[in-house]
Amino acid sequence: LFTPSELVERFTSEEPAHHSKVSIIGTGSVGMACATSILLKGLSDELALVDLDEGKLKGETMDLQHGSPFMKMPNIVCSKDYLVTANSSLVIITEGARQEKGETRLNLVQRNVAIFKLMISGIVQYSPLCKLIIVSNPVDNLTYVAWKLSWHIRVIGSGCNLDTARFCFLIGQKLGIHSENCHGWILGEHGDSSVPVWSGVNIAGVPLKNLNSDTGTDKDPEQWKNIIKMKGYTLWAIGLSVADLTESILKNLRRTHPVSTIIRGLCGIDEEVFLNIPCVLGEDGITNLIKIKLTPEEEAHLKEKIQKELKL
Ligand code: NAD
Repeated sequence: LFTPSELVERFTSEEPAHHSKVSIIGTGSVGMACATSILLKGLSDELALVDLDEGKLKGETMDLQHGSPFMKMPNIVCSKDYLVTANSSLVIITEGARQEKGETRLNLVQRNVAIFKLMISGIVQYSPLCKLIIVSNPVDNLTYVAWKLSWHIRVIGSGCNLDTARFCFLIGQKLGIHSENCHGWILGEHGDSSVPVWSGVNIAGVPLKNLNSDTGTDKDPEQWKNIIKMKGYTLWAIGLSVADLTESILKNLRRTHPVSTIIRGLCGIDEEVFLNIPCVLGEDGITNLIKIKLTPEEEAHLKEKIQKELKL
């Protein structure tokens, strides 16, 4: 037997510093899909995982650690204690309190609010300068809650990033063109009431509405609007979409993403609500909002959903 110092000579007295530490709260399906997508893209120099379920947390962490020869990331750590997240550049919340039998959506939201109170104070205490991405549902409401509780540090709701990716994929599938080249946005609120902005859908700058002004409406013989009714399975796609947001933030790319942020004075909305609109994302979180031009019908659709969903 030999001690490590017989092989490795200490050359510097400095403690290792992490410059792009990412923490993920919740190591369920979505949290682990985010973790693997971020690891495989090599975006972070330390990954910290937190979950209430300690056995699961340790098991998932060890599984990832055993893959370290295949990933260029030195450090994966975990704990129930938020101290493990200290000095994160980015914290991703995928905690998922499960809806109990007979529990209303409102009750679930309220339970999540109680969980968020403890969680956000733990995160902010150890990483006061971090950006926060909220993935847990109902994502727009919980992004608002996180924003209120965190004294308005940079909070981003993953919201319609996934919906938009699906939209582009399904348009691409119908046309036989890669989704990256199909430009379209899903905005408003994440989920069933989101708003597909058909007026802006284009391929290589050619708007689909120019080919058929009824595209996306009931009158359209091609029934393009049906594509958004097809629901996808959300695990790998949400992981990849969160890794995409992570990349824009950690590499300061200043790309536009449909994410949830506070809307006031845009799209004719005066209230303090969180909705998804195209935002510029970089190392300071959301730095700019794009003043999207909607048709009167799309704007009405967006507002109608807000009013319905505001009763929190
Ligand atoms: P899951 O049940 O597999 O995992 C949830 C994890 O959260 C579990 O490991 C659980 O132990 C942990 N947890 C619960 N309470 C906690 C707490 N107080 N602190 C720390 N950890 C806690 O669920 P999932 O499939 O991974 O989904 C997670 C969340 O993501 C859900 O709210 C889901 O609706 C949401 N989601 C959002 C999107 C989106 O586009 N925004 C897409 C898919 C899923």
